[in-house]
Amino acid sequence: MAEQEASGLQVLLSTLQSSCDKDVILNILSVLTDLLSLGTGRRIHYVVSKGGSEALLQALATAARTEPPDHGTLLPLLRLLARVGQRDRKFGLKVQKAEVTDIILSLTRRDLGHHLHLTHCLWVLRVCASNVTTGTMLGINGAMELLFKVITPYSKRHVRTVRAAIGALAALLKSKSNSRRAVNRGYLGELLRLYQDWHRNDVSNNYIYIRRGLLLCLKYITNIQLGRETFFGSRGMEILFTSVQDCLSCKNLDPIINTATHILRKCYPKEHLPVVNVRSSYSFPLPGNVNAEPPCEGSEDKWLNGDSESEGEEETEKDWDNEDVESKEEDCDLETDVNKMRSRSVLDRPEQELEKYEALCAELSQNFQEFELESEEKKSLEDRTENLSSAPSHFIPSATSVKHPNCRWRNQSVTEMGPDPEERGFKVPLQSWRKKEECIWDKNDEKRDIAEETQDKGFCEEEDPARSHVFALCSLPKDAAWYKKMFYPPCEGNPSPGGRTESSDVARNLLEKHQGDVQFHSPHFYAARARCVKSIPGYRELAFPDFWGHQPPPYSKPLLERKHGVQRDKVLDDIRRLIQPGDVIGRTVFDLDDPSLSSPAAPGCLTFSSKFESGNLRKAIQAREFEYDLIMNADVNSNQHHQWFYFEVRDMKSAVPYRFNIINCEKFNSQFNYGMQLVMYSVREALQGRPRWIRAGQEICYYKNHYRCRAAAGGGVRGRFYYTLTFSIKFPHKDDVCYLAYHYPYTFSTMMSHLDILEQNRNPKKVYWRQQTLCQTLGGNPCPLLTITAMPESKNRDDLEQFCSRPYVFLTARVHPGESNSSWVMKGTLEFLVSSDPIAELLRKCFIFKIVPMLNPDGVIHGNLRCSLSGDDLNRQWLTPSPQLHPTIYHAKGLLYYLRSIGRAPLVFCDYHGHSQKKNVFLYGCSIKETLWQAGCMVDTAVVTEDVGYRTLPKILDKVAPAFVMNSCSFLVEKSRASTARVVVWKEMGVLRSYTMESTYCSCSHGLYRGLQLGTKELEEMGSKFCLGLLILHLKSLPCSKELMAQAALLLDLEEEITDRAQRRCSNSSLESDDEPPCAEEIDYDTASSSDGEEEFLELDQEIQECLSCVEGETEDEGVTTGQTCSSRALRELYISSQPAPNSTALPLGSTALGLYSGFQRSPV
Ligand SMILES: [Zn+2]
Repeated sequence: MAEQEASGLQVLLSTLQSSCDKDVILNILSVLTDLLSLGTGRRIHYVVSKGGSEALLQALATAARTEPPDHGTLLPLLRLLARVGQRDRKFGLKVQKAEVTDIILSLTRRDLGHHLHLTHCLWVLRVCASNVTTGTMLGINGAMELLFKVITPYSKRHVRTVRAAIGALAALLKSKSNSRRAVNRGYLGELLRLYQDWHRNDVSNNYIYIRRGLLLCLKYITNIQLGRETFFGSRGMEILFTSVQDCLSCKNLDPIINTATHILRKCYPKEHLPVVNVRSSYSFPLPGNVNAEPPCEGSEDKWLNGDSESEGEEETEKDWDNEDVESKEEDCDLETDVNKMRSRSVLDRPEQELEKYEALCAELSQNFQEFELESEEKKSLEDRTENLSSAPSHFIPSATSVKHPNCRWRNQSVTEMGPDPEERGFKVPLQSWRKKEECIWDKNDEKRDIAEETQDKGFCEEEDPARSHVFALCSLPKDAAWYKKMFYPPCEGNPSPGGRTESSDVARNLLEKHQGDVQFHSPHFYAARARCVKSIPGYRELAFPDFWGHQPPPYSKPLLERKHGVQRDKVLDDIRRLIQPGDVIGRTVFDLDDPSLSSPAAPGCLTFSSKFESGNLRKAIQAREFEYDLIMNADVNSNQHHQWFYFEVRDMKSAVPYRFNIINCEKFNSQFNYGMQLVMYSVREALQGRPRWIRAGQEICYYKNHYRCRAAAGGGVRGRFYYTLTFSIKFPHKDDVCYLAYHYPYTFSTMMSHLDILEQNRNPKKVYWRQQTLCQTLGGNPCPLLTITAMPESKNRDDLEQFCSRPYVFLTARVHPGESNSSWVMKGTLEFLVSSDPIAELLRKCFIFKIVPMLNPDGVIHGNLRCSLSGDDLNRQWLTPSPQLHPTIYHAKGLLYYLRSIGRAPLVFCDYHGHSQKKNVFLYGCSIKETLWQAGCMVDTAVVTEDVGYRTLPKILDKVAPAFVMNSCSFLVEKSRASTARVVVWKEMGVLRSYTMESTYCSCSHGLYRGLQLGTKELEEMGSKFCLGLLILHLKSLPCSKELMAQAALLLDLEEEITDRAQRRCSNSSLESDDEPPCAEEIDYDTASSSDGEEEFLELDQEIQECLSCVEGETEDEGVTTGQTCSSRALRELYISSQPAPNSTALPLGSTALGLYSGFQRSPV
């Protein structure tokens, strides 16, 4: 069948190769021209697949042999070759095979004086050169010298020929050896001169394509180190930079500006980051001293000599022609070994070790004998707190607020913590875990001892945190008038001699002013908790926002619209530092490694600070008056993981846009390129009753910069490049104190004080709440474990049995410290779970919740992005966690092992995360079948059986949670994720519903929140809706009592809720992929990147077309003789007769008029 279809075309092609009859050849060319003139790529690819290129090349070789050359045949032949060749990926090889490179060169040489002929030759030359090897061969044989004879300074004559020559030259320069040859012959300087000349003279912008063509030549030639150096030495930077300034005002010059900017970025000399050492400013001695990496020495070089971009690639030419580059990379990571995915019961520790986890499941052995006593005791308290406890959650089902809990204290609150004599009026409540932690962990545990020993050695000098330092609250400057007025009435003004006000006074005065209107937050609790935190730098400051609290703004902010050319403008402004250094200051104003710089900065300069919980800013350099370069600190004991920032800035002017550049980002792209803003908190605003983080920053973009990582520190491919996040901010007030962060901060102390408040707020008659310490972290901080369920209905046996037999749900969060959004989601979950919302009450009767709200307290405290103090990503340690290095993971897994060992493995496990590249909230789960299908493996359904119950919860969430999108979920098991919580809990604990829940930092692509940036309110809502989802899951999947069903039916108008959401979603839901479209501007400027592709094809097609349609009007055409077209009809008929039926897949000739190019074929004179 296929042969039949092709036969018509094949007859034409074989006749073309074998015939010597000029008329026949001409007519075949005419038919082919018509066939391809409708010109979609598909037709050409079809002709190529039938041997079109070879036939045309053969015909060219024959035609070129005739003396004198017959241009009547050659011209249509060359045009066809140009159009077919550029879409034939193996064209270069075919050219070599047919030995036509010399033929083309000699035709070009001979036609130098005839511009129309020459133009045709140049098109083919360009196409041949798109293969690197063929291009190199052409270069060796003098093609570039030839082209430089054609490319002239500005002239209105023969511009088509000049354009074709520039196109060919650009193609030749893609070969690195051609580029080297060109540089050595001085062509780079020549190209710059030509470009300047065209730029200067083409005032009406008539020849944009010529100017851009010259820039493309420069772009390719500077792909080699020698090219970049020569460009730099020839003042290329100044020349292009100046020319771009002239173009900026004209929007249709974008192609020129963009190409020039690309070259400028590439040739900007590479530098190391301006830090002595890229390793974190904070280091932590590990128990057993494992993996002590040597410090990385700073380099003396100002400029980097070798450019890592092209290292090792310089000499090798890449030719993709012979490879079928089909990317299967993504699927490579999928686990295809069924046995590795099957649930297996292994233990990574001796079985008897599990016994100690019994203490963390006290609910299973509790007989509630003390229950009544306790509740009697609490009776009086209850009365006072009744309205508090009965306030329903503010997300489900209605928005009712919970009043501030400051007024309530349990009597025993003060005892164990020890009151702080310095503090007045507030206490930290009792922590049941204080007692627990002593009994759970055996003092003889050797491994613990090692860890403790290290901690004792100089890490935390002060054993008793309560007696520790005076805590400073963002040390407000005493000269700030607004502040003095607000906190220091004249008689009391009592600044310390040091020039800074006594911080405890500040705190006290502030607390007196606090309105207490931030839900579930208490500055008293916060300050008390913060005092107990152990940190490497020994934090002595509180960040105001964490202390004072955050109240979500009443409105949601839409995504920031990207301004046209914003990145280009910023990049050019960066380059201006090099070209016009007059206003560059370059003064370091803050440096973690040099504390002398951290005090008030020079006049007219911002003051920075980051030495507080979750703070991350290592260095600030004032680049220009209102521009600062900022460097983030690496994770402790690491030299990478830069993304999270959180710092304080003060001494600002108002109404001035400050530009900030965070110059050591690592990810290859960012949601900052897609409308996401950072967050800002203004102290003045807070004190005026608007205590909130808001999305802020304008002119935001994210792009690769000129900083390179030192090879020794790069750790392989990762971290070789750095990216800049740039934004500008107009601060709302003069002399304010503001905080800027990557995302809404949520510190360890925030979490601890939140737990305090929740414990206080719960209704102890109804909510079983137990807070214990899972373990101590490496840094000596407690990792809390919560148990939440409903109190048994009564002490009778049935009720106690029901209490004990509730299935477990195990939730964890914040293993990655930079993912503060996961903590906000967890906050929503916790508040809902202890609330008196009837749905929450029902849910508590269904499950026992085990929750580790922060798996990585140390990382959070130190402002890390990803790791713990050991420098390890804790979510890659679940297979074999080390009790010394990864205690929180080791014990969380131990507890899960214990639950499994008593037959109580959780029904649902979910680890809350944040996703920095994607929109929406979604789940990752695990499915053997979906993984095998995705990997293209055969699935024997008789052997591989799988419960599809893992899909139920995400389906429910898709319906009940507005931020959640089922389409974004994935259930694939990747090899690279084999040691994550999700996969290990699924496999080793046999938990079918084991998930990672990813929350965006940015926005949603679907549903209610589409186009809006998520705030803490939406994140918290997600946490509470997750709970609702669990209840529905329970109703759907587990046998439950009639009573429960009836209650549920009353509470949840499920049908309505579900259809309502589904409809809403349907209206704007689509099957679009969740991945971002390519960025509006190129983030990267790799030497390999170029605009090759369909666009370039279209350019050449258009060039040919334009040339043909104008050729008649041009004077340069001096008589093209052509042959007859008399027999074309016969041939056409032959062709048509052999065509398949019109609806087949082959190419119908259609009704196009033949002889489209008759202008060429008819002799004009
Ligand atoms: Zn994560």
